[in-house]
Amino acid sequence: MSNVITKPTLVVNCGSSSIKYALISEDNQHRITGMAENLGLDNARIVHKCLDGKKTEVDIPGANHKSALVKIMSLLGNQSPIAVGHRVVHGGREFSSAVEITPHVLSEIKRLKELAPLHNPANAIGIEAVQSIYPDLPQVGVFDTAFHQTMPPKAYRYAIPKEMYEKDFIRRYGFHGTSHAYLSHRASQITEQQGPHGWLIAHLGNGSSTTAVYEGKSLDTSMGLTPLEGLMMGTRCGDVDPSLHIHLKRTMGLSLEQIDEILNKKSGLLGVSGVSNDMRTVESIANDNSHPDQKNAELAVEMFCYRAGKYLASLSCALPHLTGIVFSGGIGENSATIRARIIEVMRHFSLDLDEQKNDSLYGGEEGSFHTADSKYELWVIPTDEEYQIAKETRAVLGL
Ligand code: ADP
Repeated sequence: MSNVITKPTLVVNCGSSSIKYALISEDNQHRITGMAENLGLDNARIVHKCLDGKKTEVDIPGANHKSALVKIMSLLGNQSPIAVGHRVVHGGREFSSAVEITPHVLSEIKRLKELAPLHNPANAIGIEAVQSIYPDLPQVGVFDTAFHQTMPPKAYRYAIPKEMYEKDFIRRYGFHGTSHAYLSHRASQITEQQGPHGWLIAHLGNGSSTTAVYEGKSLDTSMGLTPLEGLMMGTRCGDVDPSLHIHLKRTMGLSLEQIDEILNKKSGLLGVSGVSNDMRTVESIANDNSHPDQKNAELAVEMFCYRAGKYLASLSCALPHLTGIVFSGGIGENSATIRARIIEVMRHFSLDLDEQKNDSLYGGEEGSFHTADSKYELWVIPTDEEYQIAKETRAVLGL
């Protein structure tokens, strides 16, 4: 097994108290994965999955990002990475593609915390931790926002005074870019239609977003300045009237912080159903007539599907030509019912779904589910952000 991983590239996704990692071979056929969680606490631990799929759990009480990374590297054994690719959430206007980490890039990532206060500082901690342990290992930042830097101004500007854009860079950035890049590229590889290709991508997970991609370029997307804009999500409200904040402040006396917490953490599927942010749970309660929250759960599912379909339909305006729709993310990859309901919302698009094929696509299966009569193609493609980050990392470094 020792030489199986060719050009092993370590992909690191640091959160404030966690590190998700994957060591990926150049051909994407082999991968070691794992996650360090509860960092900084007594119950910090690493769950590590070896090449053969065997899981090991290692307690690392009180470990910080740096000591966890030392342990992760030792768990990788003789599979030493040739480079590290970091998922970085916000690249602002500065980064329209992945870049090698330099002192300047690192300081920009830190400065951009004003746009992603929860994420960019954790991403920077991960970069510094790797730097301090392996100063000679090349590192690359792969930004969630970068793929959307091709959006035209009509899509990325808000209709607010221009000074706010020019001086304070208030604009739409979009997120999930690595996933949308992977999915649109993959769709263009597997379709039998000749290009140019226009795709509507629905990444539906706990966080959800849709993007219009034409010839590999993002032309518009549902998330904006922050990942709160757009679709209804697990705990995020998506689009609301921008006057909601002032209304809640005036009528309920809530602070901006309380309102932010409600809209980000207590809304979406959780807020409407009153029971869960998890689509599996919400769907099963919606189907259980004896459950006291059945009606609320059913409305949550209906709203989720209506908004996703409405967004996909509206994003078609960005595309010179539509080839098809791609579903992905935990919900998009696994729930045939949700896919069918979203397609029903888009009933004027002459989409014709093959029920049997739709039902057969779950648990990591890739495939199409349109009939020969469908005007546009329908695909399920499991997303692979780790692979995309590893690929971009090697490309930036010329490896
Ligand atoms: P994240 O945005 O955190 O990466 P995921 O892409 O893993 O999220 O998606 C998580 C969501 O996928 C949850 O709402 C979960 O219920 C949903 N999901 C997973 N499997 C199914 C399924 N079989 N049916 C419906 N929803 C599912």
